[in-house]
Amino acid sequence: MVRKRIPDHDFRNIMRGMFDPLAAQAHHSALRSISRVVEETTAPMEEGAALEGVVKLLEAGSVLAVTGAGVSTDSGIPDYRSPRGSLNQGRPMTYQEFRFDPVASHRYWARSFVGWRVMADAQPNRTHYALVELERAGLLTGMVTQNVDGLHRRAGSENLVALHGDLATIVCLQCGHREARELLDARLDHLNPGYFDSIALDPAAVNPDGDVTLDDHHVQRFTMAGCARCGSVLLKPDVVYFGEPVPSIRKTRVAQLLDGADAVVVAGSSLAVMSGYRIVIEAQRAGKPVAVINGGPGRADHRVDILWRTRVGPAFDQILDALDL
Ligand SMILES: [Zn+2]
Repeated sequence: MVRKRIPDHDFRNIMRGMFDPLAAQAHHSALRSISRVVEETTAPMEEGAALEGVVKLLEAGSVLAVTGAGVSTDSGIPDYRSPRGSLNQGRPMTYQEFRFDPVASHRYWARSFVGWRVMADAQPNRTHYALVELERAGLLTGMVTQNVDGLHRRAGSENLVALHGDLATIVCLQCGHREARELLDARLDHLNPGYFDSIALDPAAVNPDGDVTLDDHHVQRFTMAGCARCGSVLLKPDVVYFGEPVPSIRKTRVAQLLDGADAVVVAGSSLAVMSGYRIVIEAQRAGKPVAVINGGPGRADHRVDILWRTRVGPAFDQILDALDL
């Protein structure tokens, strides 16, 4: 597995803040995971055969859909690992930085205060709605998304597990209090009048976790708000960051969805992150066929039954047409 060099300006801050060797180890392991580059290993199938294969799986009526960042790029949210992906502009925070590095955490919240407005304006696209149609037609037993943008939920998908959480909720790392992001945003807006309007933002520079790049002087003049219950500024989006495990209740729900499915269709994910890749491994262990529809190479390409290299939006148009939906 190849790894690319990623920007890591925060290294000294992290090491200063991180006295716990286990936390430091988890942080480094998270950085390794972030920098994983998925290389081309397998020639994709001919398009007609791939479409036919996916349609057959869906017609059987018991498919678990697994989605990733490639489903949301048509909503204006960039992915991490494509050539124009946001890993080339910076890297996501690790859990350990939220917990132990106040400088990095402050910078995140300044950037996220700006970036979240772009995320909040993003609308579901035709792929999100196509998946709702497939569910309503009884062809999906459920969906697992790795995305944290909430767009499947807003499009109307029902039997949905947001594996990595949702940016619309925040959690206090001090007292565990959860609250809606809008409420924190209102406090931040009050503490930082005119801040958003003072920044010329390129929407394409927003990461999938709602983070943007901001100059240091903007970061320094940002005032962070505290937890509504305990006042701590140790706040984090209720999203599974690198270096943090997926909550076991969600793993259980994914296992149940997989148990109830006869096949898995992955859309818009390179499966570079283990929590997604594991679903494919488990499906195949249970003898269930797996299809991947994705615009670039993926980690499971060499082992899946159907490999369709295409833009996800047009692919789902074709799938709905073929199914007369
Ligand atoms: Zn708190």
